[in-house]
This record gives sequence, structure tokens and C-alpha cells, in this order.
Amino acid sequence: MKVIDHWIGGRATTGFGERRGAVWNPATGEQQAEVVLASRQDVDAAVTAAREAFSDWSQSSLSARTKVLFTFRELVNANIERIAEAITDEHGKVLSDARGEVQRGLEVVEFACGIPQLLKGDFSAQVSTGVDLHSFREPLGVCAGITPFNFPAMVPMWMFPVAIACGNTFVLKPSERDPSVSLILAELWAEAGLPDGVFNVLQGDKEAVDGLLEHPDVAAISFVGSTPIAKYIHGRASETGKRVQALGGAKNHAIVMPDADLDYAADHLVAAAFGSAGERCMAISAAVTLGGVAPELLDRIGAKALAMKVGSGRDTASQMGPIVTAQARDRIVGLIDSGERQGARIHVDGRGITVPGYEQGYFVGPTVIDGVTPEMDVYREEIFGPVLSVVRTDDVDAAIDLINANPYGNGTTIFTSSGEAARRFQRGVHVGMIGINVPVPVPMAYYSFGGWKDSLFGEHHIHGPEGVSFYTRGKVITSRWPHVDHAEHQAAHFSFPTSR
Ligand code: NAD
Repeated sequence: MKVIDHWIGGRATTGFGERRGAVWNPATGEQQAEVVLASRQDVDAAVTAAREAFSDWSQSSLSARTKVLFTFRELVNANIERIAEAITDEHGKVLSDARGEVQRGLEVVEFACGIPQLLKGDFSAQVSTGVDLHSFREPLGVCAGITPFNFPAMVPMWMFPVAIACGNTFVLKPSERDPSVSLILAELWAEAGLPDGVFNVLQGDKEAVDGLLEHPDVAAISFVGSTPIAKYIHGRASETGKRVQALGGAKNHAIVMPDADLDYAADHLVAAAFGSAGERCMAISAAVTLGGVAPELLDRIGAKALAMKVGSGRDTASQMGPIVTAQARDRIVGLIDSGERQGARIHVDGRGITVPGYEQGYFVGPTVIDGVTPEMDVYREEIFGPVLSVVRTDDVDAAIDLINANPYGNGTTIFTSSGEAARRFQRGVHVGMIGINVPVPVPMAYYSFGGWKDSLFGEHHIHGPEGVSFYTRGKVITSRWPHVDHAEHQAAHFSFPTSR
């Protein structure tokens, strides 16, 4: 059985821990590898390697760092296919989607290539007579990233290119369900000339995470995953005095106004709800219909959902792959069952489908549920599967109220041809990322990504300018170089100094 290792201090290692986790191929239902699960000793080894690398890397010139980043960018670009195949084999998503995720991650590397510009400080001359003021930002030290299964390349790449460009060293704790990509990225960093110990991979589960949260040499934690774990990480890291950003789960609503182009809305809703089998934190899981649009919209969505080709992510004809694990599939099916029990209508039913040649795969087909109300489990839970709930409301204010009553606030969208409604919507919703006729409004790398409410704990959104600010801390320097002859300028005062 293939063993997936840690990467510590510039080399792959099985480490000290004896526990192993199974890595499945969700399309075939077969175990394809086992991943080492870190012990506390492994955590210490990874953090020590990162701490030792920090003294040189944090002092390296901006030019030296930029050179490594540009080379890494070229190497990832040249290896997109290899990375995408590793994603598809362990996560299940279709290859074209996996390539897209690597591309979105690369955009953060490209953003980080501009680090000399991003780290520029401010300078004010003569703030008082003979006194100048300037500021600059310094790296924090060892930063850790704890990431979810659903974007094994992109989400880590939201973090480490910026952290490393800022002069930090990094320990990545990827999801134990699809850990292989992290090692490919580690090899590419080494090939790009990144010094040993600057980027490390610690495979593992809760034990690895708790080790990082408690390690005194970890300065900052970036987390992306489900809300209960995000809350835990934020609380625990705060207690242990670390800087922390913890992105959580989501329930993203799309309002469909009566004045919307329904063909366009249906097309985009289907892609946003069922792309990557709905295992995206920006997937649309609730369509909020206004006026009388629901029947017409359901006809269109239903036809498109039924026409979707579900199959192995490796099959180029597939538009949607399997669910990541058998357990996740069973949970999704259980939630669809609960919707039926609680009075919703299953308009398109994806339960119980089989894919010829992949009978043991973890497949659920696109599912559309109509007549969903806010009390139902299917609405309250983050399903994280290919399930679109249709909730009917009367007007745009009621739709905005519904969105704001939801505990999550990651993304939301409106389909409309009314500028007035779009403006009311964008100003009224308590959500971090908003689309107007754009179903999955993921900001570009040079903006920051993050939700509100239970979708993010901490002050900083991820990557973009907020990423640079998260991974650095500021210094402000007040300086005076007194002229020996100007005695009056050198006189000290006992009162609080003010400008002269
Ligand atoms: P998860 O919370 O189960 O796991 C995320 C990470 O936390 C993994 O590395 C895992 O090993 C670790 N972990 C799991 N249980 C833990 C515990 N008890 N203690 C400490 N660490 C633990 O999430 P997942 O199932 O891998 O990913 C799906 C979730 O991530 C969804 O809720 C999705 O919305 C969310 N997500 C959010 C964003 C965002 O930007 N807000 C992006 C992607 C995914």
C-alpha cells in the first residue's frame, strides 16, 4: 500500500507516529493509500524545522524571495495536470474542475510575486522639526495552515504563498482525506530553490492540529474548514496567544427575482449548486424565489439537473464526480430523506444512483428540493453535497431578511435585471462576498476572501491585502538626527512630546 509521508526540513519522512489513516478513491470505493498521522513528536519536528529556517528566510532579500516565488509559479503551472490528477483521484471532482482549482491557487502565487510592492511602508518627512516617521512590516515567525478536503490545492495556496513571501516559514496540515497534493507542492517548492524548512507538511488529524495550537513556537494559525472546528481553532489559538483566522462553513443563497433572465439564472444555479458535487464553500445551496418564478425556474433547473453526466472524475465526459467519502455520502442522503419527511417535495432525486463500472463509488446525483422552509434540517444544515433547496418568499426585503437570519454569511447572489434591487441587496445583506448575476462570487487573489458571522472567526479575511497584513506586524519608527549646533532642538522636555 502506498504511504503518504510528511515533508519536514526539505525531505519526505514517515516521522515518529505509528497511526495511519486510509485514503480512498471515491470513484471506485477502494482504498488507494495510507497517510501517516502525526504524533506530538512529529509536530515538534516540523515546527522546529520551520523555526530554524525562519532566521535566514526572514532576513532574505525581497529579490531573493521573489525569485523563488516566480520559479515556483512556473513549476506549478508546468505541473497542473499532475496536481489535478492527484486531486481527482483522492477528492473525486472532475479533472477540469481540479485544473481550475490549481489555477485559482496560482493566482495567489502571482499576487505574492508582487511582494516588494505589497510590503512597502510609509514615510513622512519632517513630522516635527528635524523628525521623520516611517513604518514597515515584519514577518511573524512560524505560521501554520490547517486546511479542508474540498480544495486540497487552492485553499493551502490561499495561505502559504503570501506567508512565505512575507518572510515567514510555514507548516501545512492538509486534510487527511486527500493529502497527496501537499507533497507535490512541497517538491515543487524545493525545486524552485526554497530553503529547507521554510515549507513543511505535517500529515494528520486532531492530534496534529492540537499540537500546532499548543506549540509555543507557532506564531499564527490560518484555518479553513467547518464552522464547529473553526470556532474551536479560533478559541484555542486565542487562548494560547496566537494570531488566528478561521474560516468556517456556509449556506449560500441565490435570490431569483421575477425580472431575472430565467434561462441564465437556471444555467448558473445548476453549475453553482452541483459543480464539484456541491462540495464548495461558495456553492449555492438555497435558491430563494420571488413572486411566481418558482414553477418556471424549477422546470428549467430540473431539466438541466437530470441531463447532468455523473461519473468518475477521470472520465472526460463527467460533469460531476463522486462525494469524498462513503460517510459524507450517507450524511447527504440522510438529509435529503429528512427533507422528504419534514414536508418538502423532492423535485429531482439523486439518491441511489449507480454509475456503470463504478458501482462501489460514492455517488449522489443532482438533487432539487422544492417547498423548503427555514425550520427544515435540509435548510438549517450545511449539506455540502449536490442538493439545491428552493425557498419561496414574497419580496426582496423578505429574501434579504431570510439571508440575514441565517447564521452563515459566506457568499450570496442575486439574479435580476433591476439595478435598484441589486443595490438594495448588496447593501442589505450581512454577507462577505456578494454576486450580482454572478453565482459564485469568489474574489480575485488581489482582493481578500472571507465571509461574515459563522463563516469566519477572527479579524482578517484570507489572501489579498488582508493576507499580507495577517502574516506581518507593523513597526513605526520616529527618528531624529540632531545637528550638533542646534542645541534647542536637542533639549529634552518633561511634558509629553508634541510637534514643533
Ligand atoms: P473539517 O472542519 O472537518 O476539517 C478541516 C480541517 O480540520 C482538516 O485539516 C481536519 O483534519 C481538521 N479537523 C477535523 N476535525 C478536527 C477536530 N476535531 N479538531 C481539530 N482539527 C480537526 O472540514 P472538511 O470536511 O475537511 O471541509 C469542509 C468544510 O470546510 C465545509 O464546512 C466547508 O464549508 C468548509 N470550507 C470553508 C471554506 C471557506 O472559505 N469559508 C472553504 C473551503 C471549505
